[in-house]
Amino acid sequence: MAQVRVVNFFGETMYRHQFTCGTDPQLNLGKIVCIGRNYAAHAAELNNPIPREPLLFIKPASAVTPMAEPIKLPSGRGSCHFEGELALLIGRPLTNVDAAAVAPAIIGLGLALDLTLRDLQAQLKEAAHPWEKAKGFDGACPLSPFVKLDRTPAWNQLHYKLWLNDMLRQHGESAHMLTPITELVAYISSYFTLLPGDVVLTGTPAGVGALKAGDRLRMELENGWLRVDTSIEL
Ligand code: ZN
Repeated sequence: MAQVRVVNFFGETMYRHQFTCGTDPQLNLGKIVCIGRNYAAHAAELNNPIPREPLLFIKPASAVTPMAEPIKLPSGRGSCHFEGELALLIGRPLTNVDAAAVAPAIIGLGLALDLTLRDLQAQLKEAAHPWEKAKGFDGACPLSPFVKLDRTPAWNQLHYKLWLNDMLRQHGESAHMLTPITELVAYISSYFTLLPGDVVLTGTPAGVGALKAGDRLRMELENGWLRVDTSIEL
């Protein structure tokens, strides 16, 4: 299940969409649309109110790295938190669709880290400024390969886990999402057209925390559909 390494002219690892089965989705990476506070317990752990409508933000494609590669933390920017999230790979254009029309457009299910410069985000929130610098910096979105969806899964029965240094820190269940997956994608499409190659991150459950050099992270989807190990560097 290792990600195939694609390097650029400078020998840096480039991200490419991949399926775990080895077939190539042949899609260029687009934007990453994310939701904040989609699990009540996570909103509570950061003392945030639960939003009345989905709270959306976007990470640029330049934030994405292959999750299996060591993760480099930005230096001198304060604490960087992990947020383990379920990721959806979009395979068909979606503009202002109903939730019922969403399922066939999701062609892959994967795992992501919504890395967040928490101190910087707190400053930006305080000043009522956008979060982009805290959420969209280079390397802010490690992505796993995607499980190719040949059939529609039970969207409200998905599970995933995140371990930090062998300690279970997050257990996400899609049943606990405040805005369920197909409703979320439909809502996003009413503001931003989703294009093939775009990715949706579905929010993080409770258990987030700061990363430091030498940490080891593991994420697993559905008891073994997908497992990714990675490590943290400065
Ligand atoms: Zn998040």
